[in-house]
Amino acid sequence: MITLALSKGRIYDETLPLLRAAGIEVLEDPEKSRKLILSTNQPGVRVVLVRATDVPTYVEYGGADLGVTGKDTLIEHGGQGLYQPLDLQIAQCRMSVAVRADFDYARAVRQGSRLKVATKYTAIAREFFASKGVHVDLIKLYGSMELAPLTGLADAIVDLVSTGSTLKANQLIEVERIMDISSRLVVNQAALKLKQRAIQPLLDAFSKAIINPPVPT
Ligand code: AMP
Repeated sequence: MITLALSKGRIYDETLPLLRAAGIEVLEDPEKSRKLILSTNQPGVRVVLVRATDVPTYVEYGGADLGVTGKDTLIEHGGQGLYQPLDLQIAQCRMSVAVRADFDYARAVRQGSRLKVATKYTAIAREFFASKGVHVDLIKLYGSMELAPLTGLADAIVDLVSTGSTLKANQLIEVERIMDISSRLVVNQAALKLKQRAIQPLLDAFSKAIINPPVPT
């Protein structure tokens, strides 16, 4: 049995066409059921639904053989114990720094001010500001980051940006792009050896589907 860990939402939706390209159809709709283990048309393959930040942990400890997870989540996790064979080029967005429109970020950086930065992505933020030589106090949040500059909790946030409409709706502006983000396939290293005959065809089908993306249905 091969177990694939996915998180609900964009990653799940954008992984389905890749699974289909590998001949795998998920038989249940996670939006219509509370089941966390979903069967597929292939008796030897199942999907488990976990929180996005838990995907690397499930795969690292063998709760799942494979998983799909954002580069952001992988960097924060550390990626230990995971084989990362493919960038699936799905759930694409960017990690950016944003501030209130009336905050002079360039000046604060130039003057060497100590910035208060709120984020869920503390490892990425720490590394980024350290590489720029900017001193920061990091404030760990788990959601609604956009609120932090508006309430005076922080000068800046580090968050994922896709269309930019969430920032715009909260009168924030993007002042730096830290990195492009997309989702990766991660594989448990022991499973790759022990279940290679089942896993390798999946890896091959996925990489073919990335080069020749399936037409959306
Ligand atoms: P947008 O308004 O399209 O720029 O999307 C920004 C919001 O969606 C932020 O709250 C992000 O945390 C979240 N977001 C955007 N892209 C992704 C992604 N690929 N994975 C997870 N969250 C995302």
